[in-house]
Amino acid sequence: MQLFYNKYFIPMGTNKERIVVIGGGFAGLNLVKKLDKTRFDVTLVDRNNYHSFPPLFYQIASSGLDPGSISFPFRREMRKGSVKGAHYKMGEVKTIDVVAKTVTTQFETISYDKLVIAAGTTNNFFGMSDLYKYVFTLKSTPEAIRCRNEILDRLERASLCTDPEERRKLLSFVVIGGGPTGVEIAGAIGEMKRYILQREYPDIQLDDLSITLVEGTDRLLRTMSETASREAYDYLGHLMVNVRLQKTMTSYVDNVVTFADGETIYAEMVIWTAGVTGEPMQITGAEVNRGPGNRFIVDEYNRLQGVDDVFVLGDIALMMNDEYPKGHPQLAQVAIQSAVNLASNLNHGDFSRKFKYNDKGSMATVGRNRAVVDLKHFHLYGRPAWLTWMFIHLISILGMRNKLSVLINWIWCYCTYSTSLRLLLHSNRYPLRSRWGER
Ligand SMILES: Cc1cc2nc3c(=O)[nH]c(=O)nc-3n(C[C@H](O)[C@H](O)[C@H](O)COP(=O)(O)OP(=O)(O)OC[C@H]3O[C@@H](n4cnc5c(N)ncnc54)[C@H](O)[C@@H]3O)c2cc1C
Repeated sequence: MQLFYNKYFIPMGTNKERIVVIGGGFAGLNLVKKLDKTRFDVTLVDRNNYHSFPPLFYQIASSGLDPGSISFPFRREMRKGSVKGAHYKMGEVKTIDVVAKTVTTQFETISYDKLVIAAGTTNNFFGMSDLYKYVFTLKSTPEAIRCRNEILDRLERASLCTDPEERRKLLSFVVIGGGPTGVEIAGAIGEMKRYILQREYPDIQLDDLSITLVEGTDRLLRTMSETASREAYDYLGHLMVNVRLQKTMTSYVDNVVTFADGETIYAEMVIWTAGVTGEPMQITGAEVNRGPGNRFIVDEYNRLQGVDDVFVLGDIALMMNDEYPKGHPQLAQVAIQSAVNLASNLNHGDFSRKFKYNDKGSMATVGRNRAVVDLKHFHLYGRPAWLTWMFIHLISILGMRNKLSVLINWIWCYCTYSTSLRLLLHSNRYPLRSRWGER
């Protein structure tokens, strides 16, 4: 039992309150950093043993960065600074029992006094249940590596291919979804086509490689300003990306993409960036209805509706208020700011601070020297926007070593267009460990 506490003294007795945090993304890791470890026994559970940086996944996929430079091992983080004193456990949480107050992973069952769900989202295929088998996605580091390998594999095979028609088929790329991720990956492949193809793959003609970016609404980057949408459209044109607006994909069978209006296009590699949905997780002991996007409905303090001692943060939380009737945008800043606010409420032991999102703006980049940035009071484009984009991303990456590694890589690539990262590293056979419940 906790006998004595104030902010200057460590609690006496052995039983600190146990807080279990599911997910060490932007929300979970920032919460763990800010929680008072003298007061709480904090355990972070994540299925991966590293924190990753999704905004730069597209650079892994396009061989611009190596995965290590935008990933950070939790165990290293736990040894130092504000995270020191917290524990990390690997595991994918499958069920939460809110009566017994336990979470269960494939390895163990962990008890909590307070639980924070910060598990983020996964790809949404909008009911096309088989689609995940055939398309490439960018929701995690392994998915980005898979994408990179496929692009490189296709370039190598196309270099060996003597039939021009076959070569064009091999290099037919379609990106579905005109949000920031879709625009950025389409732009990155466009850059490969424009600046790298003929230098490193002389057997491939420029016209052999096609990139089509498909968006269901009437503009790209629809969460940004109309100026940003127009500029992104023009930048992609410069990189030879064919943008198709107001097109909704209804199926992808035998390498043929079919749209709602009946039109079809051939594509051997489809990159799906069209939507996300809350991570699945079974809750027992209480009736918990999820809202749109499979997000958990929370109040203005990030408390899960109808369940005591459970909180939800980041992309998987749905907080609806007058300003955001459909919930906050699923962005890193929302995750970070809500984590800081919840930590403050928990540390003070009261719930007097409501979450108020401070929108600092949004941005997207389309190759080198071209980006769009919407800030509160003004808009940037071209090189100033690109430099702003680089600066913001650089300072947001965890760890000095990673920041330096990314910076050196960017400067080197900027000056030379050369990278040693176009390595086709296929994974080898790996022994199955089904007794641990692995898939
Ligand atoms: C490709 C891409 C580009 C993006 N670009 C931008 C951008 O430029 N700017 C921006 O603001 N936002 C961007 N976002 C959105 C941003 O990444 C998210 O808003 C942010 O990551 C949400 O943080 P989170 O902590 O809620 O979830 P995440 O960062 O997704 O973290 C969730 C964590 O939970 C873990 N996890 C999931 N399920 C389980 C489980 N069952 N058990 C245990 N662990 C689990 C995961 O391994 C992960 O570590 C991008 C997202 C993607 C995918």
